[in-house]
Amino acid sequence: MGFLDGIFERKVCDICGQKCGILGGTKLKDGRLDKSCTEKLSPLIGYLKNYTVEDIKEHLAYREENMEQIRNFNVTHMLGGDGSKLYIDIDNRRFFVSGTDSWRSMNPDIISFDQIVEGDLNIVEDKREIKKKDEEGKEVSYNPKRYEYKYNFNVKITVNSKWFNSVNVKVNRSTIDGFDGDAYEDAYLYSEAICEVVNLMKDGSNEEIVEAIEYFKNRIAAPRRSYDVTYYADTKALRKGIEYYKQRDPRKAHYKF
Ligand SMILES: [Zn+2]
Repeated sequence: MGFLDGIFERKVCDICGQKCGILGGTKLKDGRLDKSCTEKLSPLIGYLKNYTVEDIKEHLAYREENMEQIRNFNVTHMLGGDGSKLYIDIDNRRFFVSGTDSWRSMNPDIISFDQIVEGDLNIVEDKREIKKKDEEGKEVSYNPKRYEYKYNFNVKITVNSKWFNSVNVKVNRSTIDGFDGDAYEDAYLYSEAICEVVNLMKDGSNEEIVEAIEYFKNRIAAPRRSYDVTYYADTKALRKGIEYYKQRDPRKAHYKF
């Protein structure tokens, strides 16, 4: 045995006993995990150094149970644009969020309606100045200054869970250019729909939830006629209310609503 052998001795995973990578795997409060065990964890789980080996054993049992439930998950309703969607099983009052049609292989965490604390709309605006080149090839501002805007639409769902605090629905797949096109309007309507339906799932009846999903789907299919519909004409029916959504729409800084 050379004297360097001890230094290169691999640490062992405290769950499965397999050797960890040369960097020593993922550290827990009182142990470590190899790559294959780390990959089985929920992508939503918090900072791993806060968990003990015993916690992770319990978490992996939960994940296996979740996978079993996902195999038998009956999607009765789907809501979302080209990014992540809500996959809802209304009969069993539960849902999950996924950005892919092949969600069965991804083991997304199933959340029951009674775990929902709140859904919050968050539209992130990225503002950048557009410059031009002067005669000497130097970048200078236009007068008045010009900007380009890019957007990402999110609904953050806060939940009660032993393993995570929230799940984010990233509504649009690729970043949206500008606030005056169809892509913005579609993503906005989907975001509003997801936020509203999530807040309704928290305490609404199955009939109310299904009615809201149908309403929003019709509205999205015909956005230019959005003010003709009557179902939510009484804004008291909205869990968050029209003002809430207006305040979170970055277009309010660009247009007069
Ligand atoms: Zn392991």
